[in-house]
This record gives sequence, structure tokens and C-alpha cells, in this order.
Amino acid sequence: MPTVGILGGGQLARMMALAGAPLGLRFLVLDTVADACAGQFAPMVVGDYTDPAALAEFASRIDVATFDFENVPAESAEWLSGRLPVFPGPRALATAQDRLAEKTLFCDLGIPVPPFAAIDTLAQLREAVATIGTPCILKTRRLGYDGKGQFRIKTPADIEAAWNALGSQAERVGLILEGFVAFQRELSVVAVRGRDGEFRAWPLTENWHVDGVLSASLAPAPVDDALRDTALAHARKLAEALDYVGVFALELFCRDGELLANEMAPRVHNSGHWTIEGSETSQFQNHLRAVLGMPLGDTRSVGHACMLNWIGAMPDAGPVLREAGGHWHDYGKQPRDGRKVGHATLRADAPAELAAALRRVGEALDRQAQVAPVIERLA
Ligand code: AMP
Repeated sequence: MPTVGILGGGQLARMMALAGAPLGLRFLVLDTVADACAGQFAPMVVGDYTDPAALAEFASRIDVATFDFENVPAESAEWLSGRLPVFPGPRALATAQDRLAEKTLFCDLGIPVPPFAAIDTLAQLREAVATIGTPCILKTRRLGYDGKGQFRIKTPADIEAAWNALGSQAERVGLILEGFVAFQRELSVVAVRGRDGEFRAWPLTENWHVDGVLSASLAPAPVDDALRDTALAHARKLAEALDYVGVFALELFCRDGELLANEMAPRVHNSGHWTIEGSETSQFQNHLRAVLGMPLGDTRSVGHACMLNWIGAMPDAGPVLREAGGHWHDYGKQPRDGRKVGHATLRADAPAELAAALRRVGEALDRQAQVAPVIERLA
């Protein structure tokens, strides 16, 4: 039975290991800390991702390598791919790690994006703000996630403050300025591409963020067929251009019926957690099937699902566990401010039923604000 090596031992690796167990797969996780939460289900190598000895031991004990985070050092991905199959491949990783490379590729593929400009100096920032207009967002090109490494420029008077906040990182990680999109909705496509090029996408997901961090996801997103087809076509084009293998997510803003691409995540994605109970095959199992060259599973949804993220600390499990379609995921992490420690998925056969379950859970856990936009969408 093959052993899958996962770089990174967070909740994504943990859910991958859980999804791979019925397939008889074995796992080995490489992480910098011994208490990484995937280590509760899989043996670990503890070491730095660039440590040659740790990488060598990891590589010697696995048949194929994949990742649970995108900021894998490029040299480590390259080193591994010289020794064994690595999916997604280093080129896809390199593109998705850099917001500028990613947006440039979107443009080349005819996928609409907000206006953007590369920024290296304060003078360039002033010039780009004048061209793009306000409001806009200054972001680090690399190593940003969950809204970190971002500064919103509401008026030109904020330029100095934005530069003071992020300018010192211009040399190390690069900066990009993006026009602010006054979107009505945020959507994501979670999709999978096999080693043989077979492409499958789950129904579109609608997402709500709080302070740049995902708070809730609803699937299937109530959108018209034309919008769904456009989103799926963008995702397929992207996967083919990168010769992508595995699961990925494409995050989209929807403004006045138009889709603008924000970013891609070259891995299983938080907005796809609902697929564990809400679809025929979960994103985690299909990712494993893809990287191992196994037949891909059906991505159709089973009813209507809403995922609620638990950030900082786990709430009381009771109200979710008492729901007929309630599913609980505790990642086994220590509570910490801003940390994703778990999620719940509520599943129901009809939208009104899902809305009623969300209302009950929201009230019982005093999370009315978290469930309110989803209930409104289901109305
Ligand atoms: P990101 O790290 O790029 O995924 O950004 C995190 C969240 O910040 C997004 O999901 C949006 O809610 C918001 N955001 C990021 N970029 C933009 C933009 N150009 N316009 C409007 N909102 C944005």
C-alpha cells in the first residue's frame, strides 16, 4: 500500500489522512513542530522544510509527496520532485505562491481580475494608486494568507501608512496593489484534476469572510447556470494551463453578475470542507485519488450544506451534534486567538431545512452574526 508524504501537518493534512484511511493508504507528515495536529493520526518527521536531513528521511519513507500549505519553500519542492512524484508540481506551486505571477496568468488565460500593479517603491505606490484609484489594497506578493500582509488604502492620504506597514517587506516578498472590488458575493470553485488530465469540479461554494478569514461557506451556492459555467470554465482553463494534479480552489469575487478572480490555492481548501458530508466524494479523498493516479470520485453534492469555521476556541459541540445533519470537526489544536481550531457542517435535503438548523445552532451558540448572511441567502 503506498505511503503518501504530506509537507505540513495542520488540519488539512489531518483530514487528508482521515479520508485516506478507507483507501488503505499510509501517511507520513513532515512538520516543524512535534505537536502538529495531523500527527495524532499519522507518523511524523519533525524538522525544518529546508533541512536536507529531514527532507531525505521524509523522501526515503514515502511513495508520493503532496502539501497541506502553499508556502512550501520552492527549493524543497524541487528537491523532492527530483526523487519522487510530487503533486501539485513545483511550477503550479511557484505560480500560486506569488500573487503577481498568479494574476498575470489569469490575465493571459482571459480570466478577468481586478486592476493590479507590482510595487517596489513608495514612488511606484503613489503612481499606481493614482492609476488604479481608491479604495485599493496593498498586499504582499508572497507568504500572505487569511488577510494577513494586507493594507487597505481608503484615500490617497493612507499611502504613507500603507508603505510604513508593508514597505519594509517589498524586497523580501514583493508587493502588489489591487483595486478594491465592491463585490456582492464571494464564490469559490473547488476542483480536482487527475494525473490523466480528467477534470471535475464540485458545485460552486459561496463564502463569507470576517477580518479576511473564512467564516462560513454554503454549497451549492445559489447562482444561475451561466455564472456557474463561467466559474467552472475559468477553473478548468487554469488547471490545464498549469498541468495541475490534485485539488485546488479558485476564489472569485462576484460584482454585478461579473466574476473577477482573486487568487488560487494549490491545495485542498477551507471552502471545500463541506464536501466531507455534503458531496459524494470529499475534496480530501479526491486529492489523494488524483495524486495516486486512482479514478476520481463523483463531485456531485448531496443536499445542501453549510460549513461554519471555529476560530480561536471550540464552542460547545452539543447544539450541532443534536442536529440530524450536524457534523463536528475538532482539529485537536490548542485554542489560540485567530487560529482555525475546528469547523461544523450542517447538511439538509432542502434550503429551508438548512436555514432552520442554522438558526437553531446560531442561537444556541450565540453565533447569530455568523449564520445570519447564510440564512438570508437561503431565504
Ligand atoms: P485574500 O488573502 O486575497 O484571499 O483576501 C482575504 C479577503 O480579503 C478576501 O476573501 C476578501 O474578502 C478581501 N479582499 C481581498 N482582496 C480584495 C479586493 N481586491 N477587493 C475586495 N476585497 C478583497
